Amino acid sequence: MVYWCDLGNNQSVYLNEQAGQTIVTLQSASPGQQQQSSSSFQTGAWTAPPQAFQTSTGVVLQLHTVQNDVWFQIQGNGIHLSQPPLLLNTPSLPMQQVESAPGIAPFLPMQPMQPMQPMQPMQPMQPMQMGNMSMSLQPMEMRMGSSTSAAQFCRQCGASVQPADRFCTKCGTQLQ
Ligand SMILES: [Zn+2]
Repeated sequence: MVYWCDLGNNQSVYLNEQAGQTIVTLQSASPGQQQQSSSSFQTGAWTAPPQAFQTSTGVVLQLHTVQNDVWFQIQGNGIHLSQPPLLLNTPSLPMQQVESAPGIAPFLPMQPMQPMQPMQPMQPMQPMQMGNMSMSLQPMEMRMGSSTSAAQFCRQCGASVQPADRFCTKCGTQLQ
């Protein structure tokens, strides 16, 4: 059960009690933007609808709970627990019962995840072509730490071989 009260100056407050926990949501609307902040207080279950009063220092809220009356003071965008104020001939602000409060609907169903789109297979690299010239990129191999001899390849199959190898490890061709 949610109660809503218009505080004037484009500000309104929502009061919601869940299992002895009172959630106070302050909403302020200014041109172009809307702000809201929620505070949660352990108050105990309500025994009557809450009330709001406009006082000289701001709006106070009164909760009637199973334990005691609980008072809140709203100042600016803040909500504070407060001592019982002096409310001599202070008119109460109209409190309306509403369906729900903004930001207090934690039970929204999750949106199902979209299935992953299958990845496009990689296109094989096409040889570069420039006019009539065509160049194909041969896999290049670089060896570090051996400055005395360049990389060697089997003259038969093109596999890379070690300078010390006597036979190609791939095709068996004698190298030396
Ligand atoms: Zn070979």
